[in-house]
Amino acid sequence: MDLLNTLVDKGLRRELPSREEALAVLATSDDDLLDVVAAAGKVRRQWFGRRVKLNYLVNLKSGLCPEDCSYCSQRLGSKAEILKYTWLKPDEASQAAAAGVAGGAKRVCLVASGRGPTDRDVDRVAQTIAAVKEQNEGVEVCACLGLLSDGQAERLRGAGADAYNHNLNTSEATYADITKTHTYADRVDTVRKAHAAGLSACSGLIAGMGEKDEDLVDVVFSLRELDPDSVPVNFLIPFEGTPLAKEWNLTPQRCLRILAMVRFVCPDVEVRIAGGREVHLRSMQPLALHLANSIFLGDYLTSEGQAGKADLDMIADAGFEVEGADQVTLPRHRADAAGCDSHGESGGCGPCGSAGSEPVAGAEPAEARTDLVAVRRRGAGTDLAPNA
Ligand code: SF4
Repeated sequence: MDLLNTLVDKGLRRELPSREEALAVLATSDDDLLDVVAAAGKVRRQWFGRRVKLNYLVNLKSGLCPEDCSYCSQRLGSKAEILKYTWLKPDEASQAAAAGVAGGAKRVCLVASGRGPTDRDVDRVAQTIAAVKEQNEGVEVCACLGLLSDGQAERLRGAGADAYNHNLNTSEATYADITKTHTYADRVDTVRKAHAAGLSACSGLIAGMGEKDEDLVDVVFSLRELDPDSVPVNFLIPFEGTPLAKEWNLTPQRCLRILAMVRFVCPDVEVRIAGGREVHLRSMQPLALHLANSIFLGDYLTSEGQAGKADLDMIADAGFEVEGADQVTLPRHRADAAGCDSHGESGGCGPCGSAGSEPVAGAEPAEARTDLVAVRRRGAGTDLAPNA
């Protein structure tokens, strides 16, 4: 297919595809799906080989958020029966992080629900970063605390944070449909603040919220312009008790096309499969490793993932290898530019999960797999051992 040859050539040269080419990837048929995966897989291997970076989420503060993001189980007015707790103590967070690191994670993502941190919250997170780094030598820490005020990114960087996550989530045109309490511009501003403070910027999207293909392409092109080091791709988990509970729009094939499009548009960036991997890709997860070079190990913020051991077995069975702490995630040209050894992160308040998009003409409608959504009841904030 000429389209795929063109996209591979561009990806190997780090050249931006056109919007039409990105849209054409999303419109490919199931008959062409393996060709699409193979093409995007060439670009993935050029920049990341067969390495898979593992990241581990620690939900520092769960639920009780004053914001109204309609995809989120922690939102204002959410009826989802998730764990709700206030800030974990530094040693509790560090202990949860250690389980992930022992399971093979090289990055720990410290996430807190809320609009954004107070200065006192930043102090608290600084202590947590110190505890995590002391207990887990060489681990990368990414903070995800919501919208940042002036000076907070610098303070987090000074406290030892390597990265900051804040997702754009969806296109500027549809942003007001999913959230009323803050704007798309607020989110862009925080990603820029993180970048300017020398933190590795991590920013991604949520697919499956009823958006059109054009919206998905818009948000991915906006991300490329913002130039984060890592792009988490969430597939909406339609939690019961949230406004998007009925938005079961994704098929495994659709998820693969979305990941391929993101890889072509952001060829040399850490592309991470985030929330919704197990729910929407299901038995097609190993194919997605040919597109993304990073996943979360274990559980998500408010939902359970598959067992950590199953993640590791899947990576080995598919012929990939877990990226070691001594390996640099990003291609040399990006790592040098960032002045940092590796990069990448997850979905701030976002890997809560999501999925969706316009059904493709002729494709089977997506099935509501509520049986695959399990609220997290173990790990951080509970007395039970974490999944790692
Ligand atoms: S995504 Fe973040 S800011 Fe939005 S409701 Fe959820 S926890 Fe709050």
